[in-house]
Amino acid sequence: AKSSGGDQHVFFNPVLTEAAEQRRHMESDLRSAIRNHEFVLFYQPVVDLVNQRLAGAEALIRWRHPTRGLVMPDSFIPLAEKTGLVIEMSLLMLDVACRQLLDWKNRGLDYVLSLNVSGRQIPDGLTPAKLQEVVQHYGISPTRLALEITEGVMLRDVDKSLQWLKAVHDLGFRVYLDDFGTGYSSLSYLKLFPVDTLKVDKSFVQDMCDDNNENTLVGAIIAMGRSLGLDTVAEGVELKSHLVALQRMGCHYAQGYYFSRPVPAEEFDAAASRITAL
Ligand code: C2E
Ligand code: CA
Ligand code: CA
Ligand code: CA
Repeated sequence: AKSSGGDQHVFFNPVLTEAAEQRRHMESDLRSAIRNHEFVLFYQPVVDLVNQRLAGAEALIRWRHPTRGLVMPDSFIPLAEKTGLVIEMSLLMLDVACRQLLDWKNRGLDYVLSLNVSGRQIPDGLTPAKLQEVVQHYGISPTRLALEITEGVMLRDVDKSLQWLKAVHDLGFRVYLDDFGTGYSSLSYLKLFPVDTLKVDKSFVQDMCDDNNENTLVGAIIAMGRSLGLDTVAEGVELKSHLVALQRMGCHYAQGYYFSRPVPAEEFDAAASRITAL
């Protein structure tokens, strides 16, 4: 709009209005989706490269939308964050995850399941007390549940995050640093935060070339992890050549389309047995 003083309101932007409308629509859609249990967890197998076995899975949220089909997290998590609905959502997913862990436990499977935690969920949603209450309710060990957080989330409020991390870690939950290498990782933070595992971001894994050039970056992360006593999980493993390079570099765990896409709970056993046959 031109600088026309008090008349500015008449130059409303139809595109913006439409976007705002869409957002309101999406927000009420999100609310009803929570009520109607339209959110589900898919599970992507995580492979233990050292012991050649299935280590567990990463839980990834999906929205089974009645008309739009399967909606991926990148298109609704940001709005869920902004509106605070992510808190309610994360409590529902914590419950689903723990029921999955109980199912595995009852079948003698000691898998570790990791759950993604975003900004608003700390410390208001997944409080240490809430986490403990839910694992106790299902009678599962907190060591079976890993919480995946990014540096970005931790650095938003370092004091609060540190308090939360220490508390959940002391209770026995595992903490994974997600998307490692994409942010402002500083070694001092790594030493400060009680973290068990580094997840090497898929962009680094996929940049690895066979002629060893780019491999050094992934290798450096793995070596750094080892020197700090941390495990490493490589994500986004799509090719056999990725796997071979990671194994050579001493990476402990891997996940990616090479092994399996994230699958619904009822397909997990089939995906797992395909992997053990690899
Ligand atoms: P992320 O935690 O970094 O998850 C890894 C993403 O990479 C997932 O996308 C996964 O499906 C995808 N992926 C796995 N293997 C491969 C591969 O071999 N190649 C490629 N190209 N991609 C692969 P997805 O499921 O769409 O999730 C996107 C992001 O949404 C996640 O990134 C995470 O930040 C967020 N998210 C997912 N579930 C939850 C949740 O329950 N709560 C919260 N707060 N965030 C979630
Ligand atoms: Ca993750
Ligand atoms: Ca990641
Ligand atoms: Ca990510």
